[in-house]
Amino acid sequence: MSGGEGVKTTGLAWKVILGMLVGVALGLVLMFNAPVPVQAGDSYRAILSNGENVTIKIAANRDAKPQYVVTDRPDSPDVPGGLIGRSRAEARDALSGATGLRIENLELVSRGPVKEMSPMTMAAYFVGEGFVRLLRMIALPLIVCSVLVGIASLGNLKLLGRLGRQTFAVYFATMFLAAGIGLTFVNLVQPGKALGRALEEAVPDVVQSRPNPADMVLQMIPRNPFEALANFDVLGALFFTILLGVAMASRGKHRSAPVFNFFEGLSDLLYVIVNWIMRLAPFGVAGLVAYFLGIQDPAYLADIGRGLGLYAVTLASALVVHWCVLIGLVAWLGRFGPFQFVRTMAPAFLTALGTSSSAATLPVTLTCTNRLGVSKRVSGFVVPVGATLNMDGTALFEVIGVMFFAQAFGADLTVGQQLLVAATAVLAAAGAAGIPSAGLVTMAIVLTAVGLPLTGLGLLFAIDRPLDMMRTVVNITGDAATSRIVQTWNPEIDPAEDDIAEEYEPIEPTASHGP
Ligand code: ASP
Repeated sequence: MSGGEGVKTTGLAWKVILGMLVGVALGLVLMFNAPVPVQAGDSYRAILSNGENVTIKIAANRDAKPQYVVTDRPDSPDVPGGLIGRSRAEARDALSGATGLRIENLELVSRGPVKEMSPMTMAAYFVGEGFVRLLRMIALPLIVCSVLVGIASLGNLKLLGRLGRQTFAVYFATMFLAAGIGLTFVNLVQPGKALGRALEEAVPDVVQSRPNPADMVLQMIPRNPFEALANFDVLGALFFTILLGVAMASRGKHRSAPVFNFFEGLSDLLYVIVNWIMRLAPFGVAGLVAYFLGIQDPAYLADIGRGLGLYAVTLASALVVHWCVLIGLVAWLGRFGPFQFVRTMAPAFLTALGTSSSAATLPVTLTCTNRLGVSKRVSGFVVPVGATLNMDGTALFEVIGVMFFAQAFGADLTVGQQLLVAATAVLAAAGAAGIPSAGLVTMAIVLTAVGLPLTGLGLLFAIDRPLDMMRTVVNITGDAATSRIVQTWNPEIDPAEDDIAEEYEPIEPTASHGP
């Protein structure tokens, strides 16, 4: 069957927890001892000695002359040697010299993409990003193999149809439930009202795109399956893979044997690679956490925290509530004890926390769900499709984010409009790839659908990572919960018979090739 032995998770959870703790310690050291220098695209508030404030925007690229613009002072002289890459104090002195302004302090208003950093921060980035890239590299081939092998091993179109209907029903029911929990929390707490002036500060805008619902659906059909694979178009790749799997199941085991055996073999080998990569997990997670903390500016973070604190607390609490609801559903519909579920899934939860990516966590999620007593024939289909489509945490996040902006802009949305937000959020979440911050990008779709400006999305970027970690855990919990529930509804698919289902035999040279 697909997946061979899966991922070796013994002791993995503890090692990853240790990695996280080391990452936090290292990140704090970096944050205070190796602060991030001036970046292209930064924007600062310069406090002058006479108490006046001016805004200084750093150019988006190094070659601009001068490398900065002071608001209301268009003819600023160049700073020899430039500003990008210099420490805040050096930049302040250089700017004071060049502009003649007596700058006491530079305070960060918004940050451009971080490219300049200390060698230690760079090392943390290298280790963390390297780990995520390795997992992401394996994700798409693994999705293709598990879905194909999962569908084809069912070998029965009627069973497949029932499983598909049940899976999609649970996916969408739980995503709407998540959106409902989001709406309830955001209406009760009203975090947007507390944002006040913070939105008025110029925050980077995200490019406006007006999606058309027909195109959103049509985009699932790739122009060419190889292009979908090459461009990490997971939905497109999945669409073709499901068709191919159904075709294999409909042709019968004998005719599809060469293709089936190839993908099953490939899947086994992919898990060998995944096991190598997972040995790096504690280091990778330490690097990711250290880098995220290390590039923060404590004063800036505290500033944003004041404006967005209530938003973050509302979102985090709603996510925790939905996570508990999912575990309750597993106990009720999936007949699996809550504590045992959490203990079994712990390595996947921690990998999701560390990587903020459902796709990267997929191999661990698949292994853990098989330990929930779910047949590989069920999990091989439900979990990879879920890692792409079923995003409860992201749906909840999009609802709270959009309602938060509506409240901040003083737009009073009617119940009908709020339901539209919930419905679009579910679709946008389903369309989000399982990679870090994907949900923030697709939030633009929901904002546009209800006619809200995209200004402010940049503001959420600054504090998105910890919230992304949490919603990724909720996303993969939804996938695991669905697989357990669907398994319980189909007891005839016995996990003990997974290997017996391996009946695919290559076609003998003498076999008939006719239909
Ligand atoms: N990072 C999330 C995931 O991989 C997607 C999101 O940004 O909401 O599941």
